[in-house]
Amino acid sequence: MLEAVMFVVIGFVLMELAGWAIHKFLMHGIFWNIHKTHHTATKGPFEKNDVFSTLFGGIAIALMIVGYGELDYRFWLGVGISVYGMCYFFFHDVIIHRRVKWLKRPENGFWRGFVRAHQAHHANNKKKGSEAYGLFFVPFKYFKAGRK
Ligand SMILES: [Zn+2]
Ligand SMILES: [Zn+2]
Repeated sequence: MLEAVMFVVIGFVLMELAGWAIHKFLMHGIFWNIHKTHHTATKGPFEKNDVFSTLFGGIAIALMIVGYGELDYRFWLGVGISVYGMCYFFFHDVIIHRRVKWLKRPENGFWRGFVRAHQAHHANNKKKGSEAYGLFFVPFKYFKAGRK
């Protein structure tokens, strides 16, 4: 049981760290043509950039399938990546970008720091010169009091 929880947490943390690196070096690199659809105004409910979420979701499902028989670390890593994906969707797509208008953005408090960081990432909307590539793994400065 402890092992299961541990691998779920590892899957979650790994996904944020890998996501940070993939976003910084690949999406704002050779995959910019796909990722830029998230940085520019889009028509319709989907963006080309959604292929990345689909891909990560596919990896999570594949891990859960291969680990299902034994319920081993692969299964729980897949669960961790899935939990991360749900948090990412909820926080990035629903709260920050409001792709579905379920909730308002937080105006202040702890979560506002993450919103600020991601808004700073979107500030120039260009391939180079952006900041805050992680969603939860962001510089501390965004949490300092007095920032809007
Ligand atoms: Zn970006
Ligand atoms: Zn965004």
